Amino acid sequence: MKTLPFADETILSWVETHPTPFHVYDEAAIVVNARRLKAAFAWNKGFHEYFAVKAAPNPHLMALLKKEGFGSDCSSLPELLLAEAVGNTGENIMFTSNDTPQEEFAKARELGAIINLDDITHLDFLEKSTGSLPELLCCRCNPGPLKGGNAIIGKPEEAKYGFTREQLFEAYARMKAKGVKRFGLHTMEASHELSAQYIIDTAKLLFDLVAEISEKIGITFDFVNIGGGIGIPYRPEQDAMDLEAVGKGIEEAYKEKILARGLPELKLYMECGRCITGPYGYLVAKVRHIKDTYRLYAGLDACMANLMRPALYGAYHHITAIGQKGDLAKDRTTRKVYDVTGSLCENNDKFAIQRELPELKPADTVVIHDAGAHGHAMGFNYNGKLRSAEYLLKPDGSLVQIRRAETIADYFATLSYPGLKEG
Ligand SMILES: *Cc1c(COP(=O)(O)O)cnc(C)c1O
Repeated sequence: MKTLPFADETILSWVETHPTPFHVYDEAAIVVNARRLKAAFAWNKGFHEYFAVKAAPNPHLMALLKKEGFGSDCSSLPELLLAEAVGNTGENIMFTSNDTPQEEFAKARELGAIINLDDITHLDFLEKSTGSLPELLCCRCNPGPLKGGNAIIGKPEEAKYGFTREQLFEAYARMKAKGVKRFGLHTMEASHELSAQYIIDTAKLLFDLVAEISEKIGITFDFVNIGGGIGIPYRPEQDAMDLEAVGKGIEEAYKEKILARGLPELKLYMECGRCITGPYGYLVAKVRHIKDTYRLYAGLDACMANLMRPALYGAYHHITAIGQKGDLAKDRTTRKVYDVTGSLCENNDKFAIQRELPELKPADTVVIHDAGAHGHAMGFNYNGKLRSAEYLLKPDGSLVQIRRAETIADYFATLSYPGLKEG
């Protein structure tokens, strides 16, 4: 069962004063979850989570997470600038990019970010583009056929990311020869993974590699970064990841594979996005039209521009029908099966296909769950659709706008054409 943490009346009061659609993020719930993650890994003295900025690139959310001690995981220049703006600089930034342009390496160096290289040729590219190598460097490992991937990210050996095993040994030897003093090792092989064992196995793989590389190359590692990819229960029948079990499992592996081998203490880093904000963000929309043809359609005022995951991946997002003042959906006895759509001229623009819901009427409010990560962020302007506002629900119950909705002027901002007006 998936439920909303807000009363129907509360949501209806929001939509009275805030034009739909909009995203709302639950600050108190994000903070509780962030503390839970830290507690699960408190056994590791250097534990650090770098919030994957791409999941929700809003500085208000990043600043909230920074207060909880989280750094920023960035992969582009704008993401680096967002991190800088919230005061995440130096080793509070993990720069995990790929196919990286020179100016992004330059900005990452200027900020003192930890650079996580995606390819062996980037060692020379980084040195040439920035004039030197930093004292601390990390490499992204692609374990190849050693480890089965998962549905979203695919098989590691078919993924564009990271170094092969052989390349890692060569890279650390060259880094050592070039005077790099501190080392990290990273991998990210899964996306939206719900098995605790999978994440524990990822840490094990890195711990074994640390032992092997340390011995062969004669270096010691500062940290391993197990990447992001912890899933969330989008579907009502799914269970949330047991973070405590992941923490415990990795602690046991750490004792066995690092401490028992006499290797020095290693910091454990992570760069999760989805499990940090995903479940605590909601897309609030209204039903615009009900259409009855070969199927029954509920057309919303939101579309793929606001949440692309269902159209892009066929992803399930739970929908709660709220209804309207004096006629709440939960009090309606009839249930019907709908395709819940947006207004794009693109038949993929559906939030749900053949979903049973309480009978919907025009002007009903609906809430789409788990839109707090990879939601607003993925939005696009295809078909002239504009991205919506974002609000932060404060612990005192107030809604604070943290991003305004786009306007037609924003959409036309890159065009210069006589007679083109906003309305
Ligand atoms: C996308 C991404 C993340 C975050 O993934 P989540 O599934 O949101 O946890 C972390 N690191 C890298 C390199 C990524 O590409």
